[in-house]
Amino acid sequence: MDLVIARPEGLYCPPGDFYIDPWRPVERAVITHGHGDHARWGSQHYLAAAPGEGILRSRLGAEINLQTLAYGERINHHDVTLSLHPAGHVLGSAQVRLEYRGEVWVASGDYKVEPDATCAPFESVRCHTFITESTFGLPIYRWQPQAQIFAGVDDWWRQNQAAGRASVLFCYAFGKAQRLLQGIDASIGPILVHGAMEPLNQVYRDAGVALPDTLRVSEVPKGDPRLRQGLIMAPPSAGGSTWMRRFGDYSDAFASGWMLLRGARRRRGVDRGFVLSDHADWPGLNWAIAECGAERVFVTHGSVNILVRHLREQGLDAQAFDTEYGDEDDSAEAPTDATQEPA
Ligand SMILES: [Zn+2]
Ligand SMILES: [Zn+2]
Repeated sequence: MDLVIARPEGLYCPPGDFYIDPWRPVERAVITHGHGDHARWGSQHYLAAAPGEGILRSRLGAEINLQTLAYGERINHHDVTLSLHPAGHVLGSAQVRLEYRGEVWVASGDYKVEPDATCAPFESVRCHTFITESTFGLPIYRWQPQAQIFAGVDDWWRQNQAAGRASVLFCYAFGKAQRLLQGIDASIGPILVHGAMEPLNQVYRDAGVALPDTLRVSEVPKGDPRLRQGLIMAPPSAGGSTWMRRFGDYSDAFASGWMLLRGARRRRGVDRGFVLSDHADWPGLNWAIAECGAERVFVTHGSVNILVRHLREQGLDAQAFDTEYGDEDDSAEAPTDATQEPA
């Protein structure tokens, strides 16, 4: 018996009668993490990992009916044993382990295998069947060690400072922003953030994640020298808006896994691209799949067909799951075919 099947509402566990990251409102939803394509409004009961509670309540509403589990804690529901295990993607992200009559399935949600100081590290969980994402499921996607990326941001910031220019860094507000804050050298200068980011920074701080001090851009008067010395962090939507005018002369950059692609950088029109992703790269996906020991693999979103074909060539029983998950980084950047060249 399949422990997870694709239904119009989302991924469904028939013996347990609950959904995992449903895209339509359901009675019981197990949520892998708080990104908008996985945690949606309107379900009656939510179950998620305890470290993600603040994120889910800030995004879905403080009043949601939410039960939380510590990582590794087991509960039983209709004879299905369920536990949540760190996915290493963002604060509170979890893989869902299901066990029923000796069969073990793991639904990973989004994950990465490189350690991230702002969340618990990815834990490999043995299973018979593994449900994986494939956002960066092409052999061209190979991440540099994050220390190198952070050092690159620091250098760019210092150079701008020396030239009297503001440094505007665009990145996704939940997960990426906090990982960057944690990784950069905060002694270089003040860090200013767009108003949309600070509430999420606060959720991380409340959860015990150490982040450097940040100032809201709106708290700094026009013409204040901190605007030119500082690192300014903003969500991609702020790019090209009137909000940018206050910075005068600036250099801008975008931090995303898609920045590996010259075309994506060109479309963004930014001075610099920093290749930093909260998703596993091609070696990371393949490592996670091999490590869990599964003989059967379902691929949910991203470069589904390419990963499925690759896994079949390795002798695995691999197939696609049709889902409505996207990419929080910006799906508009995803290549439409596999031939786009890395730069
Ligand atoms: Zn995500
Ligand atoms: Zn996702």
